[in-house]
Amino acid sequence: MQDYSALRDAIRDVVDFPKEGIIFKDIMPMLAQPELLKLSVQAFCETAAGQKIDKVVGIDARGFIFGSAVAMELGAGFVPIRKKGKLPWMTNAISYSLEYGEATVEIHQDSIKPGERVLIVDDLLATGGTAAAAVSLVQSLDADLVGISFLIELEFLNGRQLLPTKNIHSIIQY
Ligand code: AMP
Repeated sequence: MQDYSALRDAIRDVVDFPKEGIIFKDIMPMLAQPELLKLSVQAFCETAAGQKIDKVVGIDARGFIFGSAVAMELGAGFVPIRKKGKLPWMTNAISYSLEYGEATVEIHQDSIKPGERVLIVDDLLATGGTAAAAVSLVQSLDADLVGISFLIELEFLNGRQLLPTKNIHSIIQY
């Protein structure tokens, strides 16, 4: 197993952002270092080692940073899941509850063909609500969900239990 402590060391805790009680995992210092950016993309690719992937689906917004780089490395296409109202073509949409209120995310209806093999990526797994919504959108297009990969997993929030697959990988755990 590769040592990813350099990635962990470059992730900054920002206390009480965006609101009181949240410790925000700020990955920007990690992304700004060329060798760590490369290592993080390699780590994502490692989570799909030996699997054929047709599409990498990245979740708005930090999932895009890793998603397109991982897609290029894996020889796959990139598909964004975006917050409501941002995608210009016909979409499938799903709403899910946040700590306060609701969020809606969308995917283009023609972005994945039935049976295509999909890897979902995002920066962080917290409660799992966002990733679960992403899974529903991918399933609404009859894709074959190969796995879901995160840079960071906040294990104490048990986000995994909301996700309907065993193929969940995280690179750094807290
Ligand atoms: P959740 O739906 O609760 O799993 O939240 C996941 C989404 O919220 C991810 O896309 C993260 O970017 C963001 N997020 C949630 N908690 C944090 C945190 N402590 N630090 C940074 N981002 C977070």
